[in-house]
Amino acid sequence: MDFIQPASWADALAVKAATPSALPITGGTDVMVELNFDARRPETLLDLTRITELADWDTSTGTVTGSSTVTGADHTLIRLGAAVTYTRVIEELGEQLPGLAMAARTVGSPQIRNRGTVGGNLGAASPAGDCHPPLLAAGAEIEVASVRGTRTITAADFYIGVKRNALQPDELIRAILIKPSAGPQQFSKIGTRNAMVIAVAAFSLALHPDERAIGTGIGSAAPTPRRAEQAERFLAAALDDAGLWDSRGDLPASITQEFGRLVSRAAEPIDDVRGTAAYRLHALGVMAARTLTWAWHDYRQNG
Ligand SMILES: Cc1cc2nc3c(=O)[nH]c(=O)nc-3n(C[C@H](O)[C@H](O)[C@H](O)COP(=O)(O)OP(=O)(O)OC[C@H]3O[C@@H](n4cnc5c(N)ncnc54)[C@H](O)[C@@H]3O)c2cc1C
Repeated sequence: MDFIQPASWADALAVKAATPSALPITGGTDVMVELNFDARRPETLLDLTRITELADWDTSTGTVTGSSTVTGADHTLIRLGAAVTYTRVIEELGEQLPGLAMAARTVGSPQIRNRGTVGGNLGAASPAGDCHPPLLAAGAEIEVASVRGTRTITAADFYIGVKRNALQPDELIRAILIKPSAGPQQFSKIGTRNAMVIAVAAFSLALHPDERAIGTGIGSAAPTPRRAEQAERFLAAALDDAGLWDSRGDLPASITQEFGRLVSRAAEPIDDVRGTAAYRLHALGVMAARTLTWAWHDYRQNG
């Protein structure tokens, strides 16, 4: 097996263009498991850990179209390099990306969180990956690049099948673009124990009061991570109709329950070793209602 360790982004793209079958490795917490279990035998490993820009984040100004409503206006954006670890998300971005930080806290163990990256989670594109629900709910976009140029893909369009993403063979993930939260965000994950566990089902919710919109993300309950778009539209309209965005009044149980029902309806789970489809559907309804209650409580507190 060849091991190539470029020192610059341009070199990494050149390697990927010349050898599209080269397997990128960042934290290695997915790749090394696959190699050790002989699930994969790549001829070339493309180690991205020397490219320092990938391991950093900063703020910039730009437009993301991945949020629930397209405003077209320029926003402050967090530009999260693909190799930023979970530990850094937790320690540095809890305020600005609360949903992603909550999800990051549930990933693996301290060792996994020190090595594992958001870009690696996207590369693996597991339906159970914990980053996906909060990225969907926040309307994130994925910046990918090749020697042919750079493009952005909304999180909603990024997941195209079980463990398959929208990358072309010569492309690499460079960064994730996310608007800092303008309102409360929540993440909920059910596993068979409290730590080191793959989600049986997961759900993330983002309130976007600035856009009067709702973001959702469902994990581990469909072939790909996905939004519950009907639930988003229902909740945004219900809050509007009742004047609740402004009054921050009590949230009627009928709204919470219907939101839970619509989230569950958006899922398409299977029975597997971690749980049954029926359990996942039930759990999603409960998580959706609970995360909405928590988020609404935060929204009222911070009014
Ligand atoms: C013990 C253990 C516990 C775990 N617990 C969880 C958990 O609770 N939740 C969870 O979601 N995951 C979990 N994982 C899986 C894994 O830690 C995550 O998916 C992590 O985000 C992978 O990041 P990485 O940097 O280690 O990726 P790597 O292993 O380096 O790569 C993962 C995939 O992404 C591709 N890739 C990496 N970087 C790029 C790039 N820049 N461009 C294109 N493709 C790229 C690789 O080729 C590979 O296909 C666990 C893994 C282990 C071993």
